[in-house]
Amino acid sequence: MLVKGQVPHQESIVSIGLVLPVDKQTSIEIRDSVTNKDNRIETNEENLYKNGEIVPHIKFAPSTHHPIYSINPIRAGRGFHWEKQISITVEGNLEIKNQDGFLFVINHIPLEKYLACVATSEMSSECPPAFLESQTIAARSWLLAAAEQKHADLEIDACNDDCCQRYQGIENLSNSAIHAIEKTRGHVLIHNENICDTRYSKSCGGISENNENVWHDKPKPYLRAVLDEKDTNIPNLKSESDLKKWMNELPKSYCGPEFIPEKDLNNYLGNVDKSGNYFRWNVSFSQEDITKLISEKTGKTFDSILSLQPLERGISGRIIKIQIDGMENGKATHVILKSEYEIRRVLHPNFLFSSAFIIAANSTPNSPPSRFTFKGAGWGLGVGLCQIGALGMALKGHTTANILAHYFQSTELRKIYS
Ligand SMILES: [Zn+2]
Ligand SMILES: [Zn+2]
Repeated sequence: MLVKGQVPHQESIVSIGLVLPVDKQTSIEIRDSVTNKDNRIETNEENLYKNGEIVPHIKFAPSTHHPIYSINPIRAGRGFHWEKQISITVEGNLEIKNQDGFLFVINHIPLEKYLACVATSEMSSECPPAFLESQTIAARSWLLAAAEQKHADLEIDACNDDCCQRYQGIENLSNSAIHAIEKTRGHVLIHNENICDTRYSKSCGGISENNENVWHDKPKPYLRAVLDEKDTNIPNLKSESDLKKWMNELPKSYCGPEFIPEKDLNNYLGNVDKSGNYFRWNVSFSQEDITKLISEKTGKTFDSILSLQPLERGISGRIIKIQIDGMENGKATHVILKSEYEIRRVLHPNFLFSSAFIIAANSTPNSPPSRFTFKGAGWGLGVGLCQIGALGMALKGHTTANILAHYFQSTELRKIYS
């Protein structure tokens, strides 16, 4: 595993979880390209089986330079609205364990090979080189900074999915992607002699957000809110009327339709992303539906929802704290959601695109609102690099250095190994 706070001077081997114990998966097919053999791996509470035979632990590490495995199925988009079962092809070594009766599949792979796959899993390999290079430098820095290590208990550096960075194997690799990786080999962003914890998400919606407003952690100087256009003055979105104006105005953002028409966006998105309008979106619920939804997600038993009141917003308009007022068994009650993640989890059957939204309620005298409509901006938590914005900048001829300096201010681009 990578060690937090260390700047490596050579390429690392990273451990990526492809199937996690939390997936509760008990069987998988693995085709070994060296032997051309299909293997069926199964598990139950007692044992791990390879092609019907009990084995303690499985390692696929043939003595060849290019071991390739096709693996089916793998979960992509765990818990999000775009969740799918996919099959993937990976290089490197594979390790398979029985963890409490479920499969745990780990891919040990040289960092640069992993990054090539991340670049073309996060977005399509049709993206211009400056985008692929920026994305790769952000992905490399994030992994090497090891600031998150969400799966440290499993002793892996990251999982294969959106919770860490999207890794879907070598299938989407193109020459342009490989070239982008080679060109940026060993490059990371540095602040104060440390590798930066460079976050990114799909679309900021016009303004990115300060890291502490999303994770309640210490402010990081290179994860500040940025207006996603040439102009650098961030409008004040503290009042609901300013926000309404901003939502309806369609600012000239790099991630907006002025830079990338919606009809062209699909060509650039990763292959598990649904098409849709991410820069500005609408979600609407009837009184009955929102009552059922919020009850299910919070574990309360609301009879009706009376209002949704944002209590605190970040610079980008993202709601950080919201109060939900309603009736429960005939009595007035409320719940407060205290994070961007909770807000997105509770206020959508799957997961809301972002927490940057305004709320309109159809009021009817003496009864709860018949409908709640959210008008929102962006897709994702909105901290750090805006992927669709970086794409917009690259399409307009901005360089990799320009793009990284725009989203990650006060950083230095440095090559730490060759
Ligand atoms: Zn993860
Ligand atoms: Zn943006």
